[in-house]
Amino acid sequence: MLIGVPKEIKNNENRVALTPAGAKELVKQGHQVYLQENAGAESGFGNELYRKAGATILPSIEEIYRVAEMILKVKEPIEPEYPLIRENQLLFTYFHFASYEPLTKAMINSKAVCLAYETVEKADRSLPLLIPMSEVAGRMAVQKGANYLEKPLGGRGILLGGVPGTLPAKVLILGGGVVGTHAALMAAGLGADVTILDVSLPRMRYLADMMPPNVKTMMSNEYNIRKLIPSADLIIGAVLIPGAKAPHLITRDMLKEMLPGTVLVDVAVDQGGCIETCQPTTHENPTYVIDGVLHYCVANMPGAVPYTSTLALTNATLPYVLEVAEKGWKNAAIQNPELRAGLNIIDGEVVYKAVADTFSLEY
Ligand code: NAD
Repeated sequence: MLIGVPKEIKNNENRVALTPAGAKELVKQGHQVYLQENAGAESGFGNELYRKAGATILPSIEEIYRVAEMILKVKEPIEPEYPLIRENQLLFTYFHFASYEPLTKAMINSKAVCLAYETVEKADRSLPLLIPMSEVAGRMAVQKGANYLEKPLGGRGILLGGVPGTLPAKVLILGGGVVGTHAALMAAGLGADVTILDVSLPRMRYLADMMPPNVKTMMSNEYNIRKLIPSADLIIGAVLIPGAKAPHLITRDMLKEMLPGTVLVDVAVDQGGCIETCQPTTHENPTYVIDGVLHYCVANMPGAVPYTSTLALTNATLPYVLEVAEKGWKNAAIQNPELRAGLNIIDGEVVYKAVADTFSLEY
């Protein structure tokens, strides 16, 4: 198969959809890989590494879209890319169609085949191509939180792990899924006093089993949240109710109960946030303060660590890419239900129910 990897052009997107190691695997299987010049540069992978892996470097995005049967990307195509997409061309990337109707319409009109990372689904209902980015964001939430707890950055001035003779910081994590688990592991590793709140007892049993002793679990409800917030130093929002907006577990009035300089990191901001006062921010302007409480609500946290994020993402995507390249998308989808769940639009037809329902389209 002819596989094209364009450079991402969305603002501040520094990841790339294929590493040199991935290119080498595809070339070994007899496929041809075309990479747009410098597509991997911001992730730390220069053109030469891809050339050595057997890929061909092309100078422009137009040429990538012209030659490739399968386009491998990270983010959804944006407006300047729409006219480059060809009928029957396969696009394998994050689309998040439900959040942007013009993209859905453009992909319907393009008559391309849209295979979405975010809906590739395993039999246990887990989403293998979303998990790596949650792992990154969860770990980063603690790095960011620890940093913003420093006084010059607006925080309380408490060291996450404390030192002998002082108490460590208290970290409250709302939601003990992938983000919450990785945040808890990082915070616990730094010596903080960590509490994870979740509504799932089986999940909390699992967490209680595998976490170190400085991590406790507690049922998530308003009573417990109100009890814990007055002494929390860092609160991390990591709740997800699949397909729905995040519930506002921390309401505006609760900010008054918090210590001045408490830091809130709402990772769930991409689903509306589980903190009522959460508004999406960017890496350029990541924080704001309300009632003396510092908010960090960056919607694409993994974008700040493109080296790690690219490796984490491509570790998860490559097996699927190899399967699609070998069998073609039709046979791959017939044989592998995980990939079949990833199909969102085929030749102008929306084939993913949630997307069709969102825009009242035929399904
Ligand atoms: P997940 O499904 O693995 O975990 C969500 C957890 O929330 C589950 O354990 C669930 O039981 C729990 N939960 C549901 N309702 C709750 C409640 N009322 N109180 C407490 N817990 C509750 O999801 P995840 O992969 O950890 O993702 C969490 C959020 O982070 C999602 O919105 C995801 O899109 C987002 N995310 C954001 C970024 C970013 O850059 N900002 C990056 C990756 C993921």
